[in-house]
Order: sequence, then C-alpha cells, then structure tokens
Amino acid sequence: MDKNFQEEFTQIIKFKPPLYKQRHQFVKDLVEKYKPKKVADLGCADCSLLRMLKFCSCIEVLAGLDICANVMQEKMHTLSPLPVDYLQPSERSLTVTLHHGSVAHKDPCMLGFDLVTCIELIEHLEEPELKKFPEVVFGFMAPSIVVISTPNSEFNPLLPGVMLYRHPDHKFEWNQAQFQSWALETARCYGYSVEFTGVGHPPTGMEKAGFCTQIGVFIRKYPRTGETEQSEKPTEAVYKTVFKAVYPSLKDEKYLQNAVISEVIFTAQIIKHRLMSKHHEYGDDPERKSKFQPSMDCFSDCLGKLVVEKNMEPFVSGNEVYIPLATIFSFPKVNRLCGTFEKLCKLIAGKVTLNSDGSAVMFNIERENEEN
Ligand code: SAH
Repeated sequence: MDKNFQEEFTQIIKFKPPLYKQRHQFVKDLVEKYKPKKVADLGCADCSLLRMLKFCSCIEVLAGLDICANVMQEKMHTLSPLPVDYLQPSERSLTVTLHHGSVAHKDPCMLGFDLVTCIELIEHLEEPELKKFPEVVFGFMAPSIVVISTPNSEFNPLLPGVMLYRHPDHKFEWNQAQFQSWALETARCYGYSVEFTGVGHPPTGMEKAGFCTQIGVFIRKYPRTGETEQSEKPTEAVYKTVFKAVYPSLKDEKYLQNAVISEVIFTAQIIKHRLMSKHHEYGDDPERKSKFQPSMDCFSDCLGKLVVEKNMEPFVSGNEVYIPLATIFSFPKVNRLCGTFEKLCKLIAGKVTLNSDGSAVMFNIERENEEN
C-alpha cells in the first residue's frame, strides 16, 4: 500500500452511520429477511442490539449473554416494557432474558434459537474459549442461522491511531483469509454453509483492504432432528439469569379481555352517537319518531365489506339505546381481536351492560345525561 495514499485516508475515514450502528442494522435487515422467532445475542455487552431487535415484530424470544454482568446490567432496565406497552399490548408475545455466562459453556437455556448473533465477540475470546466456541454455538445451540462479525485487520492501516489492535481487550484480529478459513472449516464441521460480507466500505482505490468489519453469515444445511437435540441436552444449567421481562401481549387472556372490553365500549359509543344525532333530526313528533329507521349505511365506512343483517340494527326504546353485539362484532378491530362471536360474548360477560338476552349493549340515555 502506498504510504502517502494510506496516510491521506487515515485522516478522513469516518463511517456514517457509525460502524457499530451499521453492524446492528445488518443484523436487523437479516431478521427482517429471515423472520426468526427466537434470537440470542452472544456477547451482548450493553444490550444495544437487543434494544433495537425488540422492535422487530417477528421476534417472540430475545436472549442476551455476556461474561461481564456489570456491562449488561448497566442499561438492562431499558429492555423493560414501557407504560405504552401496557396501554396497547402487542399482538405478539415477547420475552427478553439476559444471562450471565461464557460462550465456552453449554447451557440448556440457549437451545431452540433460530438466529444467534456474535457481533464483535470472537476477537475477545482467549484461545481455549475460541476452541470451544464452535462446538457450543454450532454443535450444541445449532440455530438455523449464525452471524459472526469481527474486525478485518487488513483495514487497520486505514484507521487513525490503531497500533496493534482496535481495542485493548482484543486477543487477536484476523485478516480476511484467516477469518474465512476458520469460518469455512467451522461450517464444514457442523453442516453449515457460510457467506462472507461486511460493513464499512474501503475507500475507492483500496478495495483490496476489504470491509472494515468482516461478517460471516452461516446457514444450517440440514434440519435438526429431535434425536440429536435430546442426546446433546445437558442436565445442568451453568448460566445465571440476571434479567427477565415478559411483555404484555394480547395472547395473554387478561390483556385480551381488557382490550376487547375497551374496544366494545368505544365502538358502541360511536354507533350510539351517530344513532342519536339521526334520532334528534326527527324531533319529538311521536309519529315521525315511530318511523325512525336508523340505517346501517351510516356505519358503512367502518363495516367494510361485512354483510349487515336486519337484526344488527341498533335502536332506541324509551330511555334505552340498544347496540346489537352482532353489529359491534362486525367492526374490523373487534372482529380481529375476538376471532369468533362466541369469544366476544365470553370476554365481555359480566363486564359490559347487556340487555336481558345478552344480544345487545345497552345504554340508559337519561342516566348518561345526568352523569354528564
Ligand atoms: N456485541 C456488542 C459488543 C461486544 S464487545 C455490540 O454489538 O456492540 C464483546 C463483548 O463480549 C463484551 O461485552 C465482553 O464482556 C463479552 N465477552 C467476552 N468474552 C466472553 C465470553 N467468553 N462469553 C460471553 N461474552 C464474552
């Protein structure tokens, strides 16, 4: 490499967005492509990748592992559900767990993952740990996909201030040939294919240096059989769980019930409101009032393509307004939440005021007016 050329670039190389963000974005894109349900991040440090991944709606189980409990615990509270998560529980379930332990040890809590990420981890491993790493990750955990990123030492001369390694805790930094031969051998040994890529492009004219961060994406070639999973399952847990958050989800009957009740009352209020404004147009003339035929046309925007039957029409009788449950059920949001009409009835039983045969939500206009 021409020394002057190299010095010129050393001054100007600055990645935008920063390299760590590009690495995390790479993982996020991979998640969006393969839609794994269970993701484990090994060497998760301050949990910043986990914090990003918890917004990927396909993920239901998210786990982090690090040998340093302090670094994990510093910001782990940011993985807890927020008030908004309780106000609007998500349709998916999500559990986030953090474990304290080493990637050199097997623990049954790391079984069953679809994607395992090791972002800037391997270069922190001592030789004996690095030796055990493939057996733990590829042999034991054996997820469908493994992503490993590590510095590319060929890029170091282009980085300002890098003497030996990029970080004082790095035990080694590999060039492209070293990483690729380790990765190819690991993939061959455990039945994976591997593709190489990276983030942090080299400057024009220096393409040979390769990406600043080199990445291997390993895909398992064959499905795991139940037999291998059983035989390899160790009996002992060695990791210590330091954090666990179960997010509120509509899959949990308790949250589903609350959501359905709110939506039923809200929908019934809208229907009632529209009905009453029509009703008032007819004034107090009893003859005109008796002819009052509210039309479901006024709800057609909300009902979409659903068929409106005659017995679904809301009506006023004396001081009571009746909104048939069948009408409420035909509103898309209620319909999606409950799935079946029977489920709707079950979830609101005893929680919403209904008429005597339980077929309609009932409002007393006089009482409501007094309360207002
Ligand atoms: N993955 C993080 C950065 C990782 S830095 C990110 O994307 O930003 C490397 C991390 O690996 C450190 O937090 C370190 O504590 C952890 N680590 C080092 N040796 C380990 C081991 N044997 N098992 C698990 N974690 C380890």
